[in-house]
Amino acid sequence: MEITQVKGIIFDLKKYAVHDGPGIRTTVFLKGCPLDCWWCHNPESRERHPQTVRRPVLQDANGRSFQEGEETIGWEVTVAEVLREIEKDVIFYDRSGGGVTFSGGEPLLQIDFLEALLQECKTRDLHTTVDTTGYASWETLERIVPLTDLFLYDLKLLDGKLHRKYTGVSNRLILQNLEKLVQAGAKIIVRVALIPGFTDSPENLLQIARYLKKFPAIRRIDLLPYNPIGEAKYPKFGMELRAGKHKMQSEEQLEALRQLVEQEGFAVRIGG
Ligand code: SF4
Repeated sequence: MEITQVKGIIFDLKKYAVHDGPGIRTTVFLKGCPLDCWWCHNPESRERHPQTVRRPVLQDANGRSFQEGEETIGWEVTVAEVLREIEKDVIFYDRSGGGVTFSGGEPLLQIDFLEALLQECKTRDLHTTVDTTGYASWETLERIVPLTDLFLYDLKLLDGKLHRKYTGVSNRLILQNLEKLVQAGAKIIVRVALIPGFTDSPENLLQIARYLKKFPAIRRIDLLPYNPIGEAKYPKFGMELRAGKHKMQSEEQLEALRQLVEQEGFAVRIGG
């Protein structure tokens, strides 16, 4: 099969993204995730295959119902179809130092599709970023190292027990893969999504920063403020909001967390 005919499942394709790597980018969201985070902000990413969900019934100010019915989340595409969208915005990538980001879910779950996409991007001299949980076999991750200009590597909790409890998986493989990526010479920015009461404690951020100190190649940590927008999506997927409802951290809280991590010797960006 021709590489451009390799198929995969995506659930979104976002243009003019400015928080998923350098410059202006197109971000392609691949469907499926092996983690089960209590706070998942992307419930539509979780299932590996397209899924049909019932829209919640909403009411307008006059009590009239609207937005009933079903919608399908996720669709199958070929590499060629994704590239066609990506190539429409090359002028923006060139002018801004941007490129293409593959995110999820966990894009490594569709490794053949991801690898083919990255190969075709490299053929076109496009900057490539992969946003990953790092939860995959090293043999899988290794395949995309030469094709990926930048990894956005998401860490959640350094405490192993808490990580297992709140994400459903151990963080051992994630940390082992991070070490191997560093050894392989990959360019990496670590990202921590700040989930109130779960990942945004000073203890957790200090543990992460102190762990990362041993890697001279990792000098930047991005802290992603909590975005409650994901909470509204839960009823549609029949999922329980196990982490509860929260507000975004205040400016003061974010500044305090920034300073904490900066004091450990990292450049910190709030929001990526
Ligand atoms: S890793 Fe991301 S997509 Fe997967 S369950 Fe956690 S928050 Fe959701």
